Amino acid sequence: MSAAAAPVAVRAGGEWESPLYRVATDQFERTAAVLELDEEARVRLLEPRRSLVVNFPVRMDDRSVRSFTGYRVQHTLTMGPTKGGIRYTPTVSLGECAALAMWMTWKCALVGLPFGGAKGGVRCDASELSVDELERLTRRFATELLPLIGPDRDIPAPDMSTGEREMAWFMDTYSQQVSHTVPQIVTGKPPALGGSEARASATGLGVVYVTEAVLEHLGREVEGLAVAVQGLGNVGRVVARELADRGARIVAVADASGGLLDPGGLPVADVLRWAATHGTLAGCPDGAPATSAEMLEVDCDVLVPAALEGQIHADNARSLRCSLVVEAANGPTTTEGDAILRERGISVVPDIVANAGGVIVSYFEWVQAIQRYPWDAEQERHRMRSLMRGALTKVLRRAEQDGLDWRTAAMAVSVAHVAAAARARAVYP
Ligand code: NAD
Repeated sequence: MSAAAAPVAVRAGGEWESPLYRVATDQFERTAAVLELDEEARVRLLEPRRSLVVNFPVRMDDRSVRSFTGYRVQHTLTMGPTKGGIRYTPTVSLGECAALAMWMTWKCALVGLPFGGAKGGVRCDASELSVDELERLTRRFATELLPLIGPDRDIPAPDMSTGEREMAWFMDTYSQQVSHTVPQIVTGKPPALGGSEARASATGLGVVYVTEAVLEHLGREVEGLAVAVQGLGNVGRVVARELADRGARIVAVADASGGLLDPGGLPVADVLRWAATHGTLAGCPDGAPATSAEMLEVDCDVLVPAALEGQIHADNARSLRCSLVVEAANGPTTTEGDAILRERGISVVPDIVANAGGVIVSYFEWVQAIQRYPWDAEQERHRMRSLMRGALTKVLRRAEQDGLDWRTAAMAVSVAHVAAAARARAVYP
């Protein structure tokens, strides 16, 4: 008879172990040390408060049934309801959602939104599912999340491979469950359902507003700047288009199929039209083809990673040839990559500042849905720009005052704010 397996102690935080969670906690620990955060606050803010893992069946078009795994993680409940996107990717995991939920907390705190962070996702390759399958998957996932979500509890939004269409299904499913229409259950809805006209382009536009403000701070301007953009999805394509419209030279772009380079500047409108028509950059006749990895190392002023996490790391950070990185993606730089950029004097506008435009406009959408009182898109963009610039000013001031890099300065502002709220609420009972 075989011996019973010996129980193994689970290390604190072991539930969320993943490369991205390590990056998020490394950043938090570094900030806690700078702030000399007391142990009570450190422990309360380090690990997510609530996590849900669900396995659920979906009827496929061929009548077979497939089981999918989904996640939702809420990092802190201290600041108000939680807020964060839902992604459909083959690699999403509990640890990845935990890291992204944590960053959402810091992002919301930095721009002054009354939310804690959350994130969720379903492990799947959305490109392999039909529209009908995606609808059934989304509706079932929304139902599985009912114990955790609610317009005053946790408000989902789009993220990688989800958009207005999925948010409409999500909102409809939730509304069916409670027997009345609840537009404030998600943000990023189609405008016909009270979605913000400004939301789809908000994250990319926010990246552009922050880039303009940082350049002003550095005494430089967008006109003539050489920019490389990795990722041409919801975020990257807006960044490429808007910076090109403002006179920047887009010298490199990439999507999942690979990159295109042109030191003289790519014809961005043509490239984006090709990508929209063909669903990929592959075969685009403009520029010289390159791999996505080669594209990151192109000679440029500003590199905008707007695709995946972990793209700038120990093996390529020494080869980057830019002077500024603007992190449009969440977690695009590993801990080791970040240390090398700091050592090389390459400035980094961290994700929690650079891509906050999306959650800001999501907040506006939520407020309007609750009040049943719509604003116009121009008003939203104007207010978003002002919040983004205000957040950047706080970060630059803190960095200067305490001699910190911009990431640590941004984290210091946010963590101090959330820690103060946790301390004031004390511990129940
Ligand atoms: P998306 O799914 O719309 O687009 C992702 C893009 O990245 C696609 O063009 C895809 O082809 C490309 N890509 C994938 N793998 C790649 C690779 N190996 N090399 C180069 N390109 C690759 O996603 P999105 O909504 O644009 O999100 C991009 C990033 O921005 C993510 O990190 C996301 O978390 C972050 N973000 C998005 C929002 C938002 O409002 N959508 C808000 C905040 C942060």
